[in-house]
Amino acid sequence: MARYTDAVCRLCRREKIKLYLKGAKCDSLKCPVERKPYPPGEHGRDRTRQGSEYLTQLREKQKARRIYGLMEKRFQNLYEVANRTPGITGENLLQMLEMRLDNVVFRTGWGSSRSQARQWVRHGHVRVNGRRVTIPSYRVVVGDAVTLADKARAFIVVRHNMDTLERRVPAWLEMIEGGYEVKILNKPLREHVDAPVREHLIVELYSK
Ligand code: SF4
Repeated sequence: MARYTDAVCRLCRREKIKLYLKGAKCDSLKCPVERKPYPPGEHGRDRTRQGSEYLTQLREKQKARRIYGLMEKRFQNLYEVANRTPGITGENLLQMLEMRLDNVVFRTGWGSSRSQARQWVRHGHVRVNGRRVTIPSYRVVVGDAVTLADKARAFIVVRHNMDTLERRVPAWLEMIEGGYEVKILNKPLREHVDAPVREHLIVELYSK
């Protein structure tokens, strides 16, 4: 499966905002967005591009894709499903992104970033309704219970994340079992999604 392997901080610098892709480093003074607030590359500092409508839409799509860690093809496929689903396409898209298993694990605070959450899933440390699921894109449904496996509960990094991140789960989730299980109460509404994305621009881009 194709995946992005270059330095992720470049992605934030390209979008000129913090996308929170690196866990603890993102809240520290080491964050490159703070130190170098201009696009990466040799000409990043001099780049003064005129903002066209297309460019604004493209950047919004890239931002959403990067926040949730999806490659272009997968993101586009998800958009097509969102477009076929009844309701507002942009909100459907965000809802589907939020209900990915790796994102749910990230929301619990077991992983400091979505990529670490994805690793817990891929390595078989996450159960859905008691069954091991190793597919990060697996979409949870209302009523599902997502649990951290016993072995992973003892991981120093997991314990550290849970003790230090103090991440509050959104209203569509409920933490139980001392924070080692999360229940999906509802589908996320737009106000539950804190990703700084203007989804209507993504819809406009793909509708061209
Ligand atoms: Fe982005 Fe985090 Fe890197 Fe800062 S430290 S640039 S927020 S990934």
